[in-house]
Amino acid sequence: MYDVLIVGAGVIGGTLARELSKYQLSVCVLEKENDVAMGASRANSGIVHGGYDPVPGTLKAQLNSAGVELLFEAAKDLHVPCKRNGSMVCAFSAEEEPLIQELYDQGQENNIPGLKVLSGDEARAIEPNLSAAVTKVLHVTNAGIICPYDLTIAAIGNAMDNGVSLRRNFRVASICREDGVFTVTSAAGEQLQGKYLVNCAGGYSDAVARMAGDDFFTIIPRAGEYMLLDKAEGGRVSHTLFQCPTVEGKGILVSPTVDGNLLVGPTAQVVETPVSKDTTPEGLGIVERLAAKSVPSVNFRQVITSFTGVRASTKGGEFILKASDTVPGLVHAGAIDSPGLTCCVSIAKYLVNILQEQGLALTEKENWNGKRKNFHAFREMDDEQKNAYIQEHPEFGKIVCRCETVTEGEILDAIRSNPAATDIDGVKRRTRSGMGRCQGGFCGPYVMELISKELGIATEDVTKFGGNSRMVMGRIGE
Ligand SMILES: Cc1cc2nc3c(=O)[nH]c(=O)nc-3n(C[C@H](O)[C@H](O)[C@H](O)COP(=O)(O)OP(=O)(O)OC[C@H]3O[C@@H](n4cnc5c(N)ncnc54)[C@H](O)[C@@H]3O)c2cc1C
Repeated sequence: MYDVLIVGAGVIGGTLARELSKYQLSVCVLEKENDVAMGASRANSGIVHGGYDPVPGTLKAQLNSAGVELLFEAAKDLHVPCKRNGSMVCAFSAEEEPLIQELYDQGQENNIPGLKVLSGDEARAIEPNLSAAVTKVLHVTNAGIICPYDLTIAAIGNAMDNGVSLRRNFRVASICREDGVFTVTSAAGEQLQGKYLVNCAGGYSDAVARMAGDDFFTIIPRAGEYMLLDKAEGGRVSHTLFQCPTVEGKGILVSPTVDGNLLVGPTAQVVETPVSKDTTPEGLGIVERLAAKSVPSVNFRQVITSFTGVRASTKGGEFILKASDTVPGLVHAGAIDSPGLTCCVSIAKYLVNILQEQGLALTEKENWNGKRKNFHAFREMDDEQKNAYIQEHPEFGKIVCRCETVTEGEILDAIRSNPAATDIDGVKRRTRSGMGRCQGGFCGPYVMELISKELGIATEDVTKFGGNSRMVMGRIGE
């Protein structure tokens, strides 16, 4: 019997788990996939939005303006790569220019610090590859970039180090509540019980609400297609560049990533299910055309991969963060579309308050430790420090992924630490092994061997992302 069950191990379930791990509570996170950060938290723009965008007075505006600093603070404690690189919203004509002033005024109402309106030339002086067609810019100096899946992995890992449990491959298939206790049954028939249940199921948050007997909203999944370019293009811009927003969203951006690549996208296309992972020639064509409008010199021959993320939007556009009106003990964190990543820590704190109002007793732990082991420490060392470290830990002297310079030591750390990587993509997200130009062509087989050895499973049973996604079919010789 847990005090709190959290359905969904995305960035919202993860930061909530970390927030709850500060208290003397038993908490379990239930995730249908083989790893954490497998929904929208894996495939998004990774932008820490400044907060000028949400309509003043809304919950989104409140949580965004509070969320930026809380997120940077958490990222520091969790050693998650992030950077306050600032963003620019660009107008390309006299007709668009009034929108820049409107966004500035909206930002002032939302109490966003450091907003500036610049002329096109002033903007180009600090962002030289910006299109000559840009006439006016809103410069958002408090905005930044972060690695969204690393944040999710780190938050859940830190929660686990502080006592939270994680159950993967646990697809919640039914929920019933009797005598003040939720019984949750997985698709495989396993059961867990809890006194409170928080629905953080992203694109499936409406389905989970329905399972719990609280059918009051519908998710409208909206896919966004992206292209990721090689590090050779990473220095093309230093700020995150947006075009003027439309009713469909914040438009196509061009942005550096924290790992030094260049990201362009996303589109905004309503799709049937929240699992759409396909990119389309049409979608990528739109991305290329609009990204080139902001930065004409982007070299699209340097694209190394493309991907799609699906937003969990709903009518009205507000986050659904509330206790159920009909089911006591049930709390929803549904329809958390953009800027949910930016707001994740402020959302987690907001949810803890709701749980407390619902009767959850919060007694602080004395020994809570919010710092996570620095996974990127080896990468950040200079050559002398690396040499000294390798003397004591020889596995860090062996490069496995040549494109991204990832060592065997870092891969073993990823397989041995909370939440442990158990498949190829899990190692990739934690270490960047396989994220470079060759996309795992060289390091893949050795990573398989390491997973197989560490987990004590046959190489044939190592998967790309769980389930039936086996990397090899069997042996053809010894
Ligand atoms: C294209 C795109 C761009 C974005 N860009 C930004 C940005 O730049 N900045 C920003 O702040 N925000 C951005 N966002 C929004 C941000 O990504 C989301 O708000 C955030 O990731 C939502 O996290 P979540 O935990 O609610 O959902 P998810 O990450 O989707 O997690 C939900 C989890 O629940 C699990 N689950 C679902 N059903 C079940 C079940 N029945 N049983 C067990 N588990 C279940 C899923 O497998 C998943 O892991 C963007 C989103 C998208 C899609």
